[in-house]
Amino acid sequence: MPYAPEQDPVLTLTTGPVDAYAAVLRGLARPVLYDYDPAFQLTYERVVADKLRRALRSAGVPVLLHGEPVLGLEAAAASLIRRGDVVLNLVSGVYGKGFGFWAKRYCAELIELEVPYDEAIDPGAVEAQLRARPDIAVVAVCHHDTPSGTINPVREIGAVVAAHGAQLIVDAVSSFGGMDVDPESCKADIFVTGPNKCLGCPPALSILGVSDRAWARLKANPDAPRASMLSILDWEDAWRRDAPFPFTPSVAEVNGLEAALDLYLGEGPERVWARHAGTAAACRAGVQAMGLKLWPAREAIASPTATAVRTPEGVDEAALRAAARARYGVVFSSGRGETLGRLTRIGHMGPTAQPIHAATAVMALGGALAAQGVRVDVGAGAAAAMAAIDGEG
Ligand SMILES: *Cc1c(COP(=O)(O)O)cnc(C)c1O
Repeated sequence: MPYAPEQDPVLTLTTGPVDAYAAVLRGLARPVLYDYDPAFQLTYERVVADKLRRALRSAGVPVLLHGEPVLGLEAAAASLIRRGDVVLNLVSGVYGKGFGFWAKRYCAELIELEVPYDEAIDPGAVEAQLRARPDIAVVAVCHHDTPSGTINPVREIGAVVAAHGAQLIVDAVSSFGGMDVDPESCKADIFVTGPNKCLGCPPALSILGVSDRAWARLKANPDAPRASMLSILDWEDAWRRDAPFPFTPSVAEVNGLEAALDLYLGEGPERVWARHAGTAAACRAGVQAMGLKLWPAREAIASPTATAVRTPEGVDEAALRAAARARYGVVFSSGRGETLGRLTRIGHMGPTAQPIHAATAVMALGGALAAQGVRVDVGAGAAAAMAAIDGEG
């Protein structure tokens, strides 16, 4: 096979970790300063209070936690949920379900509203659940449940939750930066994302948008972590140039994030989102024209940052991805948990959200399937992807 396992692949079209922008790699390569050097303190303030705040379109100053976004999600559960709380967890996939395991650790009662993993949450069902249980204090939802490639209507869910008066935790790790979503538009009290998906950085940081209401709840929660890796409270003022850091921040990663934010704000968020949406649309067109089925039950809920393709009957999904890598040097993501073995995911995140990569993905996936003995029309797939790219789709 032309691409040996010990050789780097040609193209990483995954859903995380994703390929990083060249400018981000240059940012990471900047000198590693002492965290209390005034130049780094100024950088930290500029990145968090100016650039990140503008990217999040947030009134308040966001928070950086220094570990990949699972840290931010667990910290949100540990900090916002009080011992006596009733929590409603909305589950449409593996990440939504996973949040419930953390929530259970901190609350008195966990209620789950679960739909099949190729579906999306209905805001009407959330409203009915909240009406049935007025004591629900915290609601959690995953915006883009990545292992399914499906999008939940967080704007509508946020409006329902806000009207009820509960606080909302949104996992927007794999959607923020690739589509129109921000903490205020979905009325999130804690909005968790990271630089390692659509912003095109390596995994290492968590980004949190925290509402005024959430800060008040955190401060009133005697069990909210302090002096801990899971503490959000410890980092509230750390962005100020003259404030101490609770512990050493990830200096190089902050420089990488600054480069990513410069790209994002420089290109313009609307253009970045259009690039992600256009790549996903071309990919969906190609995949379906080739004779394959999308995993999402309806195209309307398919993610603009990842395309999940149903594995044809009788195909070994791991062998399929291995063939794409060995034959073409193209890497795709597997499913996870319940979706493992049942779908293949093509990421459109950060630097890979370029329409031409959709055509490459379709051809590599099609070629790998043909090598498995599946009858697919690779030519029709490529033509449909190109037609979508050229605006004839
Ligand atoms: C990537 C991702 C995270 C971070 O989790 P990892 O599995 O450690 O990468 C959290 N939530 C969602 C929706 C993600 O896509």
